[in-house]
Amino acid sequence: MTTAVYTGSFDPITLGHLNLIKRASRVFDRVIVCIMYNKDKNPLFTMEERVRQVTTVTARFPNVEVDSSDMLVAEYARMKGAGVVVRGLRAVSDYEKECQMALINKRLNPDLETFFLPASEKYMYLSSSAVKELALFGADLSAFAPREIIGEIEAKYDGKGRK
Ligand code: ADP
Repeated sequence: MTTAVYTGSFDPITLGHLNLIKRASRVFDRVIVCIMYNKDKNPLFTMEERVRQVTTVTARFPNVEVDSSDMLVAEYARMKGAGVVVRGLRAVSDYEKECQMALINKRLNPDLETFFLPASEKYMYLSSSAVKELALFGADLSAFAPREIIGEIEAKYDGKGRK
């Protein structure tokens, strides 16, 4: 059985992330979506909110689990018995950072392979930051964020800025 971990900030989860999770769930036996605490000291959503949101929108995938961690990805994967870390590649600009991370993870955990999935054409330019920027201006988010969490994203803004 191959377990893959898909890590990120998911602040908030976008349709691009969800597309990647769906595709990974078809390839690997078990996918653990792990929300990582990171250097971003001012996330829009708390860790608890993000775990709940990701759990809600991935409920239809039986082999997908949701977790959170402040460990290094290489250590987390080892602890979970995961042999694969999945990452998404959008523009060329993702490539350098992702390659660097893959090499570091390999050094820390030689049993761990990084699998890159290209972003779907539809979501190539989509990021959590873009969703937040759009929400700030009161734009329609239905093409960018899972419908179950759009209300929650909108509720964080009052039309002029973050509440
Ligand atoms: P991080 O802070 O680790 O970059 P993100 O939540 O922004 O966390 O992204 C997590 C992973 O999802 C990364 O591998 C990123 O490249 C990928 N990703 C983000 N947006 C998309 C998208 N629109 N399509 C495909 N992959 C994406």
